[in-house]
Amino acid sequence: MRGEVISIGDELTSGQRLDTNSQWLSTHLADLGIQVMYHTTVGDDLQANIQVMQTAINRADLIVITGGLGPTDDDLTRQAIAEATGKELVLDEASLEHIELRFSARGRTMPEKNKIQAYFPASSQVIPNPNGTAPGIDMRVSRTDGTTSRLFALPGVPIEMKEMWQQTVHSVIQSMEGVESSVIKHYCLKCFGVGESHLEAMVPDLIKRGRKPSVGITVHQATITLRITAQGIDEQACLDQMQSTIQEIHDSLGELVYGTEEDELQDVVIKLLLEQNGSLSVHEADTGGLLSLCLTEADTAKNVFRGASILPTEDQAEQMAKQTREQFDTDYAIAIGPLYQTGIDENAEYQYAVATREKTMVESSRLAGHPEIHRPRAVKQALNLLRKVLLDSQK
Ligand code: ATP
Ligand code: MG
Repeated sequence: MRGEVISIGDELTSGQRLDTNSQWLSTHLADLGIQVMYHTTVGDDLQANIQVMQTAINRADLIVITGGLGPTDDDLTRQAIAEATGKELVLDEASLEHIELRFSARGRTMPEKNKIQAYFPASSQVIPNPNGTAPGIDMRVSRTDGTTSRLFALPGVPIEMKEMWQQTVHSVIQSMEGVESSVIKHYCLKCFGVGESHLEAMVPDLIKRGRKPSVGITVHQATITLRITAQGIDEQACLDQMQSTIQEIHDSLGELVYGTEEDELQDVVIKLLLEQNGSLSVHEADTGGLLSLCLTEADTAKNVFRGASILPTEDQAEQMAKQTREQFDTDYAIAIGPLYQTGIDENAEYQYAVATREKTMVESSRLAGHPEIHRPRAVKQALNLLRKVLLDSQK
């Protein structure tokens, strides 16, 4: 079953507010086994709303709309649904009573404008709103080919939307024909050390379309995430389905896989150091404390990271790693050397080193692009060198 989420409001399309409702709805639809194929955001314009809804009705089996159910002139969802589906708006007496009661309970009379919130497209169902005046709309819409699409409209106010989802919409969707009791779960493996296309070539059969479970690949600042997605009757069933794929990835990529889910390289390095009771200091020439910040945040127990020198020196990374380790008397030290501009475009070259009590390892790297991209990469490459040293010491 294909889903679409439509969020409505000028405050969203103008960029003044971030559409967090769509994110929330999509994760909750996934918990019901519904794959959301489209997020549509549209401003407060009637024709645009009608068009968006007609498109959604034709391409999605389940549509959740959020926003535009208020009483003011810019709230158009009700009218847009009626026009998109060719239905009249009819007064629902029970809803009118509910709205009037909400006002009288606070010693006020209902403004005439609010009456519009008691109108619903003919043959739709009312979704009660315990926290506000605007009830939601639940409607079956016929397509030209005789099939139907199911449409839910909820308010934009996040707390009202969520409460109505939990009290009504969730169980209505669960009982719909074609919705098997299933969930969609994701599991992420985090990799570092090669480029995206290189990594993809190492697991050629996994990233294929239509594979079950599916594997997607994304990159953020040189960290590659392999995201496995499975659908099953519950979380355990999804995890069971994923096991052989997880194993295959580990077998093919080995130490390129450094962690899972939210893990960053510094989390893994700190964990490895904690396991062997090791301590760490760092020297940063041109990364301005970025490595130190990462380590400070990851070393929550303050057991591992003992100190840093952040100095724009011209000294070599190898020498600085040795010197820093001795200065702070730690088991390990990382040094990231100065970034040399190579003179070609914005390319930079730098060395990074890891010193242990016995030896010092040095690597160098060439980076293209803006310094804002270089720095996090330099930090990650240096952390990854220490990770490899720590893994080797366990063997
Ligand atoms: P209602 O149907 O209850 O009138 P609405 O969207 O028409 O909802 P607004 O006054 O536009 O009402 O929005 C109410 C509040 O909810 C505002 O603070 C708005 O920014 C927020 N909001 C609306 N839509 C979203 C969304 N998609 N994501 C996050 N916040 C939202
Ligand atoms: Mg709005």
